[in-house]
Amino acid sequence: MPATLKSGYAASDPNADGPTAKPSSSKKIPNLPTQPKGSQHSGGPLTLPPGFTSEVYDEFIAAARQILGEQNVTVITDVAQLSLEHYTDPSKVHDMHNVVEKTYFVASAVLCPRDVKDVQDIMKLCNQFEMPVWPFSIGRNTGYGGAAPRVPGSVALDLGKNMNKILEVNVEGAFALVEPGVTFFDLHEYLVKNNLRDQLWIDVPDIGGGSIIGNAVERGVGYTPYGDHWMMHCGMEVVLPSGELIRTGMGALPDPSRPHPDGLRPDQVPGNRAWQLFNYGFGPYNDGIFSQSNLGIVTKMGIWLMPNPGGYQAYLITLPRDEDLHTALDIIRPLRLQMVLQNVPTLRHILLDAAVSGNKKSYTQKDEPLDDEELDAIAKKLKLGRWNFYGAVYGPEPVRKVLWSVIKEAFSKIEGAQFILPEETKDHPVLQTRSGTLQGIPSLDELAWVNWLPNGAHLFFSPIAKITGDDGMLQYSMTKKRCKEAGVDFIGTFTIGMREMHHIVCIVFDRYNKEKRDRAHWLIRTLIQDAAEHGWGEYRTHLALMDQIADTYSFNDNAQRKLNETMKNALDPKGILAPGKNGVWPSNYDREAWRIPGPDSL
Ligand code: ADP
Repeated sequence: MPATLKSGYAASDPNADGPTAKPSSSKKIPNLPTQPKGSQHSGGPLTLPPGFTSEVYDEFIAAARQILGEQNVTVITDVAQLSLEHYTDPSKVHDMHNVVEKTYFVASAVLCPRDVKDVQDIMKLCNQFEMPVWPFSIGRNTGYGGAAPRVPGSVALDLGKNMNKILEVNVEGAFALVEPGVTFFDLHEYLVKNNLRDQLWIDVPDIGGGSIIGNAVERGVGYTPYGDHWMMHCGMEVVLPSGELIRTGMGALPDPSRPHPDGLRPDQVPGNRAWQLFNYGFGPYNDGIFSQSNLGIVTKMGIWLMPNPGGYQAYLITLPRDEDLHTALDIIRPLRLQMVLQNVPTLRHILLDAAVSGNKKSYTQKDEPLDDEELDAIAKKLKLGRWNFYGAVYGPEPVRKVLWSVIKEAFSKIEGAQFILPEETKDHPVLQTRSGTLQGIPSLDELAWVNWLPNGAHLFFSPIAKITGDDGMLQYSMTKKRCKEAGVDFIGTFTIGMREMHHIVCIVFDRYNKEKRDRAHWLIRTLIQDAAEHGWGEYRTHLALMDQIADTYSFNDNAQRKLNETMKNALDPKGILAPGKNGVWPSNYDREAWRIPGPDSL
């Protein structure tokens, strides 16, 4: 067994002595290689997990094959296996939107459990070998690292490949119970095929190919009234790092009214009738520790579905001036708090919509960020505003009418605001897409903005803020200024939650151009620092930024991180499950050695 896992970022450095080498003191991103010296042997992985010799690694793989069968274990031996680049056929091994070298955040093998027992057995094996394991459901977590692990050489646990059943859709209770591989498309299609759309809707994020479980545990958002996916989940089944299986909330209570044959494994036993109806159960509420965490593997999850509201109308309100952002946010806040704005609406910058409609070259020949005049020209050409507000009203016609009239009146304070309905226009392709998204119909249309630049990849910078004009303008001007310094166009949107807004800044870069990647990396690191200086923190982030952001949540000498690490060490004493995720490191890793350095300067 490996004696120590305390090696760090430079463990993969070509000049290092092997997997337990000391981290490099260089602040520059090293030219990251495919494999630490000494680990190469025919058929061995491109990147060994830290502390492993080839021989021990091979023993692990042989044992994993015994559990899962040959066809469910793939060792990554060749850079050619890192060739997938597109959302529609995503890599299960590396980050397709890599901001450091593509060969750094990579798994050594992909393991595909067939059922919950396989997951439990693999966790036991990983404990035995002290093997780092990175679970994911689909691996389309684009902009945040995709399927890639935080610790290079970890084994990837691809839960979605074989565990992809919709276990229940309950019309009366308006919920579904799903396995990790169920995507938003899958659940929507299920409702359509079973003629259930007139009763139930799902909520979808911008792009529907991700999993319901992965998105909810990462606290992703959608845009109907059920847009906060974590808020709308109800009841989980979780494999702990030890391999033990638990059910949260009411799932912990056996239900004799749901008889079943003797001899079923615990994961096969029907859940309590109220498992998907009441989140909290009895005693401490556990679910939170399995969200954005490395304390468990979610094998089943309940999600509330939205009863068909009986009527629906999407709309677009265009706002002509950049500074209208201020007034708009102060209009939006009370309406959202009162639920006149019933859903999660978005206030999108012109370039986000422009990028959905065409790449940068289709608007300009210049490389530098576009200036105000050019943005105005694009807005004019697309018949949009500098900011564009997409929302919807839900309910029977009289309800919709009254809500729409209140919304219109409020926004009419902004001179030049225009009110557009999707059925009245052929000019607004984004409105047509949003009209589907805001009623829970998944699509891939919004993938287009990443092609703003050639070989487009992206990172998300996603700080939280109060819904006020002052906060919004300050965050926007800070971000815009840094984007300009980095030579990057500002492309962003404010996603309006119940009390706050997620400012989602899409940092698009050319993934084949190291200089451009470094600029994107510099930009996000600088923005994280700037944001913290204003008391703003991010809600979610890419693998490379997790430690930096965890550092900013530093109240009382990082007491929250200490609590998280105390739980980590108690539940996962061997430190095998997703070490380093969201900045939570087990005690057998040296956090400082694993930090990802950014480029020193532009
Ligand atoms: P998507 O479903 O959008 O493709 P992923 O499957 O990539 O998203 O999941 C995003 C992240 O969420 C993963 O990297 C992992 O940290 C976490 N995650 C996803 N599914 C699970 C799961 N079933 N159990 C525990 N963590 C998960």
